[in-house]
Amino acid sequence: MEKDCLFCNIVKGNTDTEFLLETEDVVVFKDIHPHAPVHLLIVPKRHIRSVNDLTDEDRAIVAELLMTGKEMARRQHVAEDGYKLLFNVEYGGGQRVFHLHMHLMGGKKW
Ligand code: AMP
Ligand code: ZN
Repeated sequence: MEKDCLFCNIVKGNTDTEFLLETEDVVVFKDIHPHAPVHLLIVPKRHIRSVNDLTDEDRAIVAELLMTGKEMARRQHVAEDGYKLLFNVEYGGGQRVFHLHMHLMGGKKW
């Protein structure tokens, strides 16, 4: 847990953010500024800064993020029409919250 990290604080329950799903390693909540009718963030509980910081030991969490995205797309009824799973990596890649997260966006036509 990084004291000044927004998503660490959300994970710890220090905010009023509601979780759509919580497992041992991952939480899912709605993006506060949605870019699509369904816009969720799939977030590992453990603080990892970005994709650049993933190591071989993180293979299981990477798989869980992806499989959770797939499952949430099904639950949110966007799986069949299609959706985006997206990681922004570091500032130049559009990342603004430096705690690893995957965006799930669906429910609109791109
Ligand atoms: P990124 O640009 O990939 O770092 O994405 C960060 C995302 O977090 C943005 O889409 C923000 O809208 C979202 N966000 C920022 N603060 C919150 C919050 N308190 N609760 C939910 N989503 C947030
Ligand atoms: Zn964090």
